[in-house]
Amino acid sequence: MIDSQNGYGSVRWGLSGLKLWALWLALAPICLPFLASAEGAAHHVVHISADGLGGVYLKEYLAESPAEFPAFRRLARQGACTFNARCDSHLSLTEPNHSSMLTGRPVLQQPTNVTFSAPHGFTVNYDPGPPWTLHNFGNPAVPYKASVFDVVHDHGRSTAFFAAKEKFAMFVRSYDADHGAPDAVGPDDGRNKMDWSQIIDWGGPDHVRRNDSNLVSRVLERLSAAPPAYTFLHVAGPDIAGHYYLWGSPEYRQAVREVDRHLGRILAAIEANPALSNRTAIVLTADHGGGDSSGSHVHPDELPTFTIPLMLWGPEAPAGRDLYDLFSNRAEPGAQHLDHDAPRQPLRNGDSGNLALALLGLPAIPGACLVPEWKPRLRIEPAAGTMVLAWPVTAAAFDLEYSDVSSGGRWTRIAEGIVVENGWNRFSFTPSLQLPARFYRLVRAAAP
Ligand SMILES: [Zn+2]
Ligand SMILES: [Zn+2]
Repeated sequence: MIDSQNGYGSVRWGLSGLKLWALWLALAPICLPFLASAEGAAHHVVHISADGLGGVYLKEYLAESPAEFPAFRRLARQGACTFNARCDSHLSLTEPNHSSMLTGRPVLQQPTNVTFSAPHGFTVNYDPGPPWTLHNFGNPAVPYKASVFDVVHDHGRSTAFFAAKEKFAMFVRSYDADHGAPDAVGPDDGRNKMDWSQIIDWGGPDHVRRNDSNLVSRVLERLSAAPPAYTFLHVAGPDIAGHYYLWGSPEYRQAVREVDRHLGRILAAIEANPALSNRTAIVLTADHGGGDSSGSHVHPDELPTFTIPLMLWGPEAPAGRDLYDLFSNRAEPGAQHLDHDAPRQPLRNGDSGNLALALLGLPAIPGACLVPEWKPRLRIEPAAGTMVLAWPVTAAAFDLEYSDVSSGGRWTRIAEGIVVENGWNRFSFTPSLQLPARFYRLVRAAAP
């Protein structure tokens, strides 16, 4: 069974022989790896950024009055989530953080363990207008900054982009037929990486609710007509309410309820459509929170601003899990403000693009360094007369270990008999009714 104590996949064999075997077979589907990077379970991903949605506020609202936030509650209960992810450590502004979400790059910092030029370098919070793009306006050492849209589109799948701020035209322009890179993968799907794009932004704070709602309607139309593999949706409500009425104000809370309503419409549309149901995942995050000592979100080192939610929902999502449990290179940061060099990196909004790609079974964005690494989970494959433990081969090395005591015992590394095949490690053993209970687990291999 999965041993959640150490966080890694762990299975157990033994005790009362055949009965337990039968129980195991019944439980085997639970042990399937959750969306291991080697195989995506989703045909469609809707990647949502709720502008200015602070993790501290959302967490409090859900704890105090869950009935008023039914869609967020569903995401938290049926999916894996954290309210304690981070925005970029150096800039907590909208345009730079969305650049990170789409490229998997930090805004400014070059992590010392990264060997290529990592920051996207787009530090302004406006659209500088043509001829400027993310490529020629940002970090000049990276003349082309590939995005989630490049990977999905170049793999021959469709993409859509919906945003509620006019300055997001910079993203559309950066990946259009003139500025997108030539297709790097398989058949030539052209240079325009966004198959559909729409921006609705007019009328200021009085109209943001209607703008966001209209955008969601466009998303639902697109999902029902020809669902894109990857849909990016930005809604502006919480940010606008935060700026006008302050983060945490009744008006801000109401704007978060509006986001819940948008999310509820999307969930309902997914469930009502057989082409989407059980095949569509949602990744939800925010560019930044807000309500720091400036009353806004200009201090990336202040907790209400740097704390944001990151939620995953969809097929095979482990219900009710802390999102941090799913990744081997991310760690719950508590209340700390950590830069991109901290040894234990928190989950960030800049991870969300690569999470969407992993859910689709696609590789990470070229040049991205914000790449969460899924923990491998042990899978049981019963075969005639033997049992097979399988786990995906990943970049980091994991060791299979066994123990004859469930806790406090000595774990022994299994060095022999592991066969690598089609991206999976497999270890076969013959169950014996005479054996005492035997436990297996995966642990990160010690550094040589
Ligand atoms: Zn923003
Ligand atoms: Zn703002």
